[in-house]
Amino acid sequence: MKTSANILLIYTGGTIGMVKDFETGALKAFNFDELLQNIPELKLLEHSIETVSFEKPIDSSNMRPAFWLQIAEMIEERYEDYDGFVVLHGSDTMSYSASALSFMFENLSKPIIFTGSQLPIGDLRTDAKENLITSIQIAGLQRHNKPVISEVCLYFEYKLYRGNRTSKINAEHFQAFASPNYPPLVNSGVHLAVNDNALWKPNNRRKMKLHTGLNDEIALIKIFPGINRSLLEHIMAKEGLQGVILETYGSGNAPTEEWFVNLLKQTISRGVVIVNVTQCIGGSVSMGQYETSTQLKKIGVISGKDITTEAAVVKMMYLLAKDLSPKVFKTIFETSLRGEMS
Ligand code: ASP
Repeated sequence: MKTSANILLIYTGGTIGMVKDFETGALKAFNFDELLQNIPELKLLEHSIETVSFEKPIDSSNMRPAFWLQIAEMIEERYEDYDGFVVLHGSDTMSYSASALSFMFENLSKPIIFTGSQLPIGDLRTDAKENLITSIQIAGLQRHNKPVISEVCLYFEYKLYRGNRTSKINAEHFQAFASPNYPPLVNSGVHLAVNDNALWKPNNRRKMKLHTGLNDEIALIKIFPGINRSLLEHIMAKEGLQGVILETYGSGNAPTEEWFVNLLKQTISRGVVIVNVTQCIGGSVSMGQYETSTQLKKIGVISGKDITTEAAVVKMMYLLAKDLSPKVFKTIFETSLRGEMS
């Protein structure tokens, strides 16, 4: 049985590879070769590691769909040459990127693991080394000559999560991510404890397919008490708007005021799709459980169930690019495509 794997390490930027600017004291991305020199431990791993980098590494706050495509193409071009892929990425938008790649890659049979860190790799107290080294080890896990993991994941602070189930929950703690509605896939302690029941089971007879279309004609609206009517009317009237994600209260509840419900109804009648996701960190939308969500269900709002906002944003971009009828869009959105909802 093969124990060593070929891993491709893709560097996009993020704190992991940043240094302090002498003049301003702000953290900025630095060169990949310098980053590698800071991790001599990589040479001690049993896996063979090759690297490729964004020409200009970015802070992930500058992430956008064109960069998702760039990462996806870097992987697609080299898909047959490697057993697993590790993507070094800033933590700020890592959950969005991991979600995006999960939808873009259909029938994935190899691991794509996103990781990064809260402190730069050159910092004495850095969390970067553990995150990076364990991500590589997990990406290299094999059973019967096949990768153990065959989905897009996110590794941070001793846990491997399904990427499209995660959210960044802390800007300070090393445990920066959570996956409230799905258990970790691997817990890293003295041993790597793989939660086999939670893993995505690939269909090995189907070929991997990369979907490159993403439609950004969408809006993300978080409801709050006192939300401004004319602002909302303006957003909904935007020319070209094709989809709205509505972050509602609790199990999918929203105001029952007539103007609000009518506005959503008119927007839907124009062919714009509206998806209901909860602004709670965990739990699920269940329209009809309260009177304050019954009206949403009646007018055709789509249930995001227990999807994260991050995954909902990219799932909407991905499905809108397919030019589906609103009815088909609703059916597919409410179905789990890559394990993003229960
Ligand atoms: N601002 C950084 C980024 O997302 C934060 C990090 O890497 O943790 O690129």
